[in-house]
Amino acid sequence: MADGSSAQARLDGVVAIIAGSMVAEVCSIYLRRTSDELELFATEGLNRDAVHNTRLRLTEGLVGEVARSGQPLNLNDAPSHPSFSYRPETGEDPYNSFLGVPLLRGGRTIGVLVVQNMALRQYQDEEVEDLQIIAMVLAEMVTAGDLVGGAELKDIELAPQKPERLKGSSFADGIAIGVVILHEVAVTPDHLLSDDAVAEEARMLKGIGDLRDQIDEMFEGQHGLSGPTFDVLETYRMFAHDRGWTRNLVEAVRSGLTAEAAVERVRNEQRARLNSARDAYMRERLHDLEDLGNRLLRVLAGKNTIAREIPENAILVARDLGPADLLEYDRKRLKGILLEEGSAANHAAIVARALQIPCVGRLDRLRDKVNQGDVVVVDGETGESYLRPRQDVLEAANARIDMRAARRAEFDKLKDVQAATRDGHRISMLMNAGLEFDLELMSETGAEGIGLFRTEFQFMVSEDLPRLKRQTELYTRVLDLAGDKPVTFRTLDLGGDKILPYMETEREENPALGWRAIRMGLDRPALLRMQVRALITAAAGRELRIMFPMVASVDEFRQAREYVDVECAWAKRRGRPLPSVLRVGVMIECPSLLFHLDALLPMVDFASVGTNDLTQYLFAADRTNPRMSDRYDILSPPMLRALSMIQKAADDSGTPVSVCGEIAGKPLEAFVLIALGFNRLSMPPAGIGQVKRMILSLDRETASKAIQKMMNTSYGSLRSEVLALARKLNVRL
Ligand code: PEP
Ligand code: MG
Repeated sequence: MADGSSAQARLDGVVAIIAGSMVAEVCSIYLRRTSDELELFATEGLNRDAVHNTRLRLTEGLVGEVARSGQPLNLNDAPSHPSFSYRPETGEDPYNSFLGVPLLRGGRTIGVLVVQNMALRQYQDEEVEDLQIIAMVLAEMVTAGDLVGGAELKDIELAPQKPERLKGSSFADGIAIGVVILHEVAVTPDHLLSDDAVAEEARMLKGIGDLRDQIDEMFEGQHGLSGPTFDVLETYRMFAHDRGWTRNLVEAVRSGLTAEAAVERVRNEQRARLNSARDAYMRERLHDLEDLGNRLLRVLAGKNTIAREIPENAILVARDLGPADLLEYDRKRLKGILLEEGSAANHAAIVARALQIPCVGRLDRLRDKVNQGDVVVVDGETGESYLRPRQDVLEAANARIDMRAARRAEFDKLKDVQAATRDGHRISMLMNAGLEFDLELMSETGAEGIGLFRTEFQFMVSEDLPRLKRQTELYTRVLDLAGDKPVTFRTLDLGGDKILPYMETEREENPALGWRAIRMGLDRPALLRMQVRALITAAAGRELRIMFPMVASVDEFRQAREYVDVECAWAKRRGRPLPSVLRVGVMIECPSLLFHLDALLPMVDFASVGTNDLTQYLFAADRTNPRMSDRYDILSPPMLRALSMIQKAADDSGTPVSVCGEIAGKPLEAFVLIALGFNRLSMPPAGIGQVKRMILSLDRETASKAIQKMMNTSYGSLRSEVLALARKLNVRL
């Protein structure tokens, strides 16, 4: 290969060598163009003129079939196969037997390697194996640019080189520039073939043994919280002890591959097979197998699963991350995360937000598009990622990073300034939280307390159901860290898009309208009572604020509140310390409550408007569906009337009310909330500085009058009017 000959000459050489060693009359290589056509790149035996001229669609011919299925195809009488497609220019008519294997990279077929013979012969299993190994080496060589020159690869996506912009969804805000670290370890091409198959087999067997020990150990719960979820573990264990898997690995090593290459090859085959399965269950199993392969590679590399070495400015790239996965990396060096899948509600996203690591997910085919070490930009503001960005994109990203830092410095100065409007209305600035890490942000942002503590986060990032002890410990630490600042704990808001792997739930047609939050708590009182008990125990002698999510009727609130009373009585009977003050509140998220506020408000100690859900139910628009996200505007007469109605009713009944949806952290929306009379806002920590700056520039009375008028217009959205008003009043947004 190093003789300096042209790329084509090298490829021609390779097919001649393969044909010779396989005793085949024909050997051809097809590579896949971005147009999804398979182009004949080199051949020994077929008509040379067909090279670069013959192109097959993926749906065409036997070669297309191999590419599509990602599986070898071994035929002794190819022309009689239904998929056979005759291309006269290749002159392949005399060849009856056909063996094609895919060239795979990351489970994607990048080409097809074919051998053909005139005789009607069935290729032996060993021959199929051999050709697969050759295909694997070839795929790596092509990808690494060792075989085919840059010009020929122009529109072939092998090792991606070009800058690319991918659109996904933002899972955690912030912008980061860094170099890619692949969570799923890839094997380098110079490590494919072993010198000593016997020694390699021993190494493989030891690796598998160690892996099993590791998993068994985790299974016995010795690694506590940092282990993956119970479900995953159970599947792991099953797969790790699976004889078929072990046999495939050992066979691959016996055929001359290194242990690493054997893992890669077995995994490639599984991926290709399972990728074509549309079934979600099968795809999940694929994830387990991938993970298992990764773990085995790490064991083989002699690396512990904890704390992988990563560069200063690492951007982690993965298909998805489990609860334990993020803990494997040095948090200080990890600057961003890009995921191919995931959802904003899954554990990786929650932890990324708590750690303030920008994260973008749902990036289609991401792992096929980046290489280890590529420079990338993670844009958590827009939910985009730039792979191998051009200089101007990098400069723009850097400028935005600087701007954010400057803004942060400005907000830092406001940290200890009380939020009050210019006409003297005090506004309480609270923050939303869910994990222990979040508490650090309280002093960083100057939040006056926690207006919404989403207790389900602990459940979502755990490997199994946190029981009384673990819950009590968390709530105690949260209250300790909060000191004399108030914390409002919301009872479990599970269901909907927040599903736990370890909890059996039925699949629902409409999860957002289904068995979730307090509905689950009331139907499974043991769960609700355990949580309330943990909260009471943790509060011991301190103020305790509890609120219930997704209450849709006054009866639900009454029942839920009763459980709190029952638990207090229980603690009292046992002589346990009770909270010094107990306040029980309601979240207003279901529109039904708007029409029963007169009955509801006198029952509650406080209320908090969950505008994320209230908007979803008011407009009947799924909050997790990106197609709905820009369709309806919170800044619209129906929504503002609803909010105003709640505020007035709360005022009349003397019930403290706050707003704790995302809008409370957005300056323009918060401007309207304050104009409507709300004076308690609980928001994501990142919103506090900007909202406070807005408040300090605002004259509430003037804004209030103008907003009242707007509510009576016939516009669908008031956004531009509100913006114009804010500008006119010199409000800093
Ligand atoms: C809301 O619905 O506005 C809310 C704050 O709760 P969550 O976002 O957790 O559903
Ligand atoms: Mg909600």
